[in-house]
Amino acid sequence: MAVKFGTFTLALACALSSGLAAAQETTPEPPVAHEDRLNAILWQMSSAEYEGAARTAYLAARLALDDALKDKTRTAAPEQTGDVSKLPPAIIMDIDETVLDNGPVQVHMLLDAKTRPGELMSHWFDRAVAKPTPGAVEFIQYAQSKGVMIFFISNRNADKEAATRRNLEAVGVKLPADIDTVLLEKERPEWQRDKGLRRAEVVKTHRVLMLVGDDFGDFVSAWNKPSPERRAVAAEHSARWGRDWIMLPNPMYGSWENAAINFNFRATPAERLRIKRDTLKAFDSGE
Ligand SMILES: [Mg+2]
Repeated sequence: MAVKFGTFTLALACALSSGLAAAQETTPEPPVAHEDRLNAILWQMSSAEYEGAARTAYLAARLALDDALKDKTRTAAPEQTGDVSKLPPAIIMDIDETVLDNGPVQVHMLLDAKTRPGELMSHWFDRAVAKPTPGAVEFIQYAQSKGVMIFFISNRNADKEAATRRNLEAVGVKLPADIDTVLLEKERPEWQRDKGLRRAEVVKTHRVLMLVGDDFGDFVSAWNKPSPERRAVAAEHSARWGRDWIMLPNPMYGSWENAAINFNFRATPAERLRIKRDTLKAFDSGE
């Protein structure tokens, strides 16, 4: 199927609501999971608040970078131990919703209930037209100007490496020719969804100044734990946030949502919605 991604404007809200109405006319059961994402996608695609949140994260990253360069004993990677002071500096960044903004394909997935999400994502990655997240390219260029190597650890599949490199270069990210800094899922057989092994690879040769991502799995291998445990681990690392670990907002998808449905990927859209509602009911609203 031919998929076109148009330019999204302030008319997005109208397009979304009319698109949803059309989808409801042709879909046997209400696309509850799709509606579930409406506000999240709208926020990322159209809000000044998203622009502000992303730029705040990258300003924090820039300030933290200056400090991290001075203190050669510091490392941001949980996998890195021992004397790191002689190693050249690096930053590990995620790609999707961290450096590249996939809001447009999320809109497409919301409106197109017929095409499988995997097909839409594959087509979108191949086109390599994602725009940068606010502040990302300026931060990367600043870090590179200080002699810091940027490694990208992404769970895009290895077969998307050429397209991913094209997209990064198209938004102004320079990639070195002599070393592979784009480390994707299954690029080696042991490189699976968990990013810990790829971080462990980077720390063999570099001191990691900072981790930048939009998903808990971009920082620590506790992303696959139940929600309360993930939250507790995030709190345990309170001294790292905004310093060693920089989190970009992503309300659209992520391991937070998978944890919220207890990683029950077989659940139907209606079941997923019910699990989420039951989770919220467990909180005492005080009303
Ligand atoms: Mg991401």
